[in-house]
Amino acid sequence: MITIKSHQELDCMREAGRIVSGVFEQLRKAIRPGVTTGQLDKIAYDFIIKHNATPSFLGYNGFPKSICTSVNDQVIHGIPGEVCLIDGDIVSIDIGACYKGYHGDSAKTFGVGRISADAKKLIDVTRQSFYEGITLARPGNRVSDISSAIQKYAEGNGFSVVRDFTGHGVGSRLHEDPQVLNYGRPGRGARLEPGMTLAVEPMINTGSYHVYMEDDGWTVRTADGALSAHYEHSIAITEGECEILTK
Ligand code: MG
Ligand code: MG
Repeated sequence: MITIKSHQELDCMREAGRIVSGVFEQLRKAIRPGVTTGQLDKIAYDFIIKHNATPSFLGYNGFPKSICTSVNDQVIHGIPGEVCLIDGDIVSIDIGACYKGYHGDSAKTFGVGRISADAKKLIDVTRQSFYEGITLARPGNRVSDISSAIQKYAEGNGFSVVRDFTGHGVGSRLHEDPQVLNYGRPGRGARLEPGMTLAVEPMINTGSYHVYMEDDGWTVRTADGALSAHYEHSIAITEGECEILTK
């Protein structure tokens, strides 16, 4: 069931979104060669708690940490720990915060030190594929109009779109209906209406779209070992252009 959020609910989601975006500001300063993903997790946890929210991912289906940190060929759901970032890595950071019962969910990929031209292009195309998608996030359009625009842009730039994980509705639950695929034909799925809130999150690979899960039961990696990037915001459908809640 797709829920339509009230003004009060949207206000809570905006605040959750501001907190998530505040965490990104802190992490952007902290990401450099030599930092561990566990240190980044600690910064995020402290910031979220200090702002009267809770980390959405901590304990979610047993996830052990507050954020996901996925390095290089890791796609999503990497578990922060002792891994030390080194010059030339890329790291995808996924953050969720819950404020007064409402979630904000956002992800970005960062370069560590100096990164290759290929890695930079992947990060840029992944971010832009999100923006191409959300130009279609308007009342009257359908969910898969977003999906199709993401795929077209990513593949048009020579990359592939992960199939096994998708975006989703977001609100009082971290994952709600509808599913928001990052590929597929336009004109399908639910019709968008003001008050719907979606987490749109392309996961884009430089190689093939195939992925597998590591033995830890969380970390998803590209099957061919190629790089992967992730970009996500929680958005609200309005009467006109969508509103980015996690900006
Ligand atoms: Mg996320
Ligand atoms: Mg999400």
